[in-house]
Amino acid sequence: MNAVDIHGGDDLRELYRELILDHARHPRHFGTLENATHTAAGINPLCGDKLHLYLEVQNDSIRDVRFEGSGCAISVASASLLAEAVVGLTVKDALDYFRAVTARMTETEEAGDIDIGKIAALDGVREFPSRIKCATLSWHALNAALHHDAAAATTE
Ligand code: ZN
Repeated sequence: MNAVDIHGGDDLRELYRELILDHARHPRHFGTLENATHTAAGINPLCGDKLHLYLEVQNDSIRDVRFEGSGCAISVASASLLAEAVVGLTVKDALDYFRAVTARMTETEEAGDIDIGKIAALDGVREFPSRIKCATLSWHALNAALHHDAAAATTE
């Protein structure tokens, strides 16, 4: 057998791993937002991840996103990817995105046909059930913020 691997599965996994580490080390949209119209806190007690999400929503469109907090690489990378993904979306599209991402990560329901783009980098967490909550924490915070749910979003 020839040793050349043309399957590419491991390459994709490596690419995703690098993307997650890059976002964890250099989170995008990190910080607070003075003009925030919607905020929510998220807590994942299992891992100790904490974050606060700030959204500026105008005319039903998400103009800007920031987050701050501390957590494991997966939770920070997930929040960073979320912030990049939802800036510019309408509130409805962001909520559709939330449903698609959480359905995909938890595999509890049909994810629908929304293209979740780079968020697919987090697919690997499905092999590690305890890390799924790290990956979905920021998305639950997004959902809570857009619904003006003042209680902290928790993965429990
Ligand atoms: Zn975590």
